[in-house]
Amino acid sequence: MSQVLPGDALLVHDLIGIGFGPSNVAMAIALSEHNARVGGREAITAQFFEQQPRFGWHRGMLIDDATMQVSFLKDLVTLRNPASEFSFLCYLKSKGRLIDFINHKNLFPLRVEFHDYFEWAAAKVEDMVSYGHEVVGIVPVVRDGAVEYVDVTVRSGEGLAVHRARNLVIGTGLRPLMPEGVERGHRVWHTSELLAKAGQLEGTSPSRFIVVGAGQSAAENVAYLHRRFPGAEVCAVFSRYGYSPADDSGFANRIFDPGAVDEYFAAPENVKRRLMDYHGNTNYSVVDIDLIDDLYRQMYQEKVLGVERLRFLNVSRLADVKETPTQVRATVKSLVTGEETLLDADAVVFATGYSPADPLGLLGEVADRCLRDEQGRIRVERDYRVATDPGLRCGIYLQGGTEHTHGITSSLLSNTAIRVGEILDSLIDRGVSSASEEARSAADGVGSTAR
Ligand SMILES: Cc1cc2nc3c(=O)[nH]c(=O)nc-3n(C[C@H](O)[C@H](O)[C@H](O)COP(=O)(O)OP(=O)(O)OC[C@H]3O[C@@H](n4cnc5c(N)ncnc54)[C@H](O)[C@@H]3O)c2cc1C
Repeated sequence: MSQVLPGDALLVHDLIGIGFGPSNVAMAIALSEHNARVGGREAITAQFFEQQPRFGWHRGMLIDDATMQVSFLKDLVTLRNPASEFSFLCYLKSKGRLIDFINHKNLFPLRVEFHDYFEWAAAKVEDMVSYGHEVVGIVPVVRDGAVEYVDVTVRSGEGLAVHRARNLVIGTGLRPLMPEGVERGHRVWHTSELLAKAGQLEGTSPSRFIVVGAGQSAAENVAYLHRRFPGAEVCAVFSRYGYSPADDSGFANRIFDPGAVDEYFAAPENVKRRLMDYHGNTNYSVVDIDLIDDLYRQMYQEKVLGVERLRFLNVSRLADVKETPTQVRATVKSLVTGEETLLDADAVVFATGYSPADPLGLLGEVADRCLRDEQGRIRVERDYRVATDPGLRCGIYLQGGTEHTHGITSSLLSNTAIRVGEILDSLIDRGVSSASEEARSAADGVGSTAR
């Protein structure tokens, strides 16, 4: 690896973005639209770093018939700027599919198609991103007794390099969550790696899969493995009685509205908790009703035909899983009787969810200056800026990991377009572009009356 560059001769970016998933692609677009509007000296300079070698949005779950859980109108821009050239409709137009999509009368495109849209949009702002660059460390840079900048260490094929920023926007997404004590392996998968792992079984004749979980991803795994491996039995294991449908009715859907963020942010802690309890079933541990119906139809048809490949082990939990080179042995325990069933399978897939990446993990010493609430959670202002001690002037913005302050849309796409607009406004209000800093320095030079 090459040496770390000395920080002092560095160009200072107004903003460094960590991660280039949909959240920070939307941020880059908002910046590029702002810069095109104001031009020249008021432009905000930004550089994003993405560890993947190219743009990729949950590639392991790009099942060919899976659809979006959000309207295409909640794309990267439309709610912020309906006239944007980065919209899903402009993407469709550029692909020659606009009229076909309209005839389809469908708000929820294929996930594969939305991935292609994200890639198309990301390519239009690719001058702002370095792929294959993982951010591995952040250190504070002190000027006149305050942390004015941060130095961001980035690892790539060429080694390590340091980049300096006046502000950070952290959009590092979600991490796959396995049950405690369960390690991933050749035959023990997390749903995030489904397509790659299933691809490795191509040409073999798997006889059984076990899918753990009762959310959307779990149900999609069951349907996919059942279809892709026609000789295999698929056993779904979950503690519920059955899959529960996602509530996407009009009134409940308003929990994803931009206005709901204002209300959630202002609500007392007990009201926040209640709102999550009432409306968690718009997003968590629930399944699209169409998919539930398809799975039920399939199960019933198999019963009629006498060849049952779909099995639902409900009110049960996976008590143990042991991997050998040739198979995996799972112990499924009934929560009703305590009875244990041993199942040998070719693979077990854990659709046990995700947790937000810990933003403070990356921040190193800077994290010590971030304020916490009484429950030890990070305090975040309405503009998504982390609350810090006054000695930290550099702004740290979060895209994701703010469910406790901003509500259920924190890790979703629903509010992305609006959120990045709010972060942009905050950057502008705080006067963070290099031009404004020069103006500030000049003002400092001529004394306080000039402020
Ligand atoms: C299968 C699946 C389907 C989903 N479907 C929907 C949907 O239909 N509607 C919806 O609203 N939400 C959906 N979600 C929720 C999902 O969180 C959002 O769609 C979206 O991915 C959030 O974007 P993001 O940019 O915040 O995070 P991510 O998409 O996770 O992107 C984060 C990026 O940061 C990069 N990164 C992480 N750490 C570093 C580092 N240290 N240095 C450099 N790069 C780093 C990662 O490689 C990644 O590319 C889905 C989630 C999954 C798993």
